[in-house]
Amino acid sequence: MSNRSITLTDALYDYLLANSLREPEVMRRLREETAKVPGAMMQIAPEQGQFMALLVRLMGARRCIEVGTFTGYSALAVALVLPEDGRIVACDVNEETTAVGRRYWQEAGVADRIDLRLAPAAETLQQMVDAGERQSYDFVFIDADKTNYDSYYELSLELLRPGGLIVVDNVLWGGAVADRTKDDADTRAIRALNEKVASDKRVNCSLLPVGDGLMLAIKQNCQGS
Ligand code: CA
Repeated sequence: MSNRSITLTDALYDYLLANSLREPEVMRRLREETAKVPGAMMQIAPEQGQFMALLVRLMGARRCIEVGTFTGYSALAVALVLPEDGRIVACDVNEETTAVGRRYWQEAGVADRIDLRLAPAAETLQQMVDAGERQSYDFVFIDADKTNYDSYYELSLELLRPGGLIVVDNVLWGGAVADRTKDDADTRAIRALNEKVASDKRVNCSLLPVGDGLMLAIKQNCQGS
């Protein structure tokens, strides 16, 4: 036994799923369809979707943002646990992959809770800031192009209320963040964000080895912006 996070063997991962995953049938079918789409690796793991839904419930979040929607699995996971008047703004640039999501959102009866914005996410978030929506969101999930992670993080901090939560995906980047031989733009961007968040006094944070690494950051009360 060690006090560090356990290594998930295939058998242990199967056990984890068998003993905790409660994936609605519509989400399972979306996940199966996504597995056939190019870029299927970009889909979050099912236990990660369940974890995000749990966080959203725990916070009683009503106003959410997602940066990077792909085929809509995580947006669906969140939308399904939002209250009737809850909304998630889903930012993505790909009409084709998000069209897959739209079908399942309709089928699950939550399409009216998901506000898909097809445009570069930094533009959408900036428009939201300019429209006076500062400090009005509860929850942001960032899972898009890694080189823009820093702008997504900064804009999210502006849009979040104090006590609001940012969840950033892929912060362990398949292990590349700790591999000195890796020095591509994506890896550098993720390392830079991890280092920034770790010492960022505007937030409280926790980096979890869930999926490909999840950074959780709660916006502190004591700041002017
Ligand atoms: Ca991801």
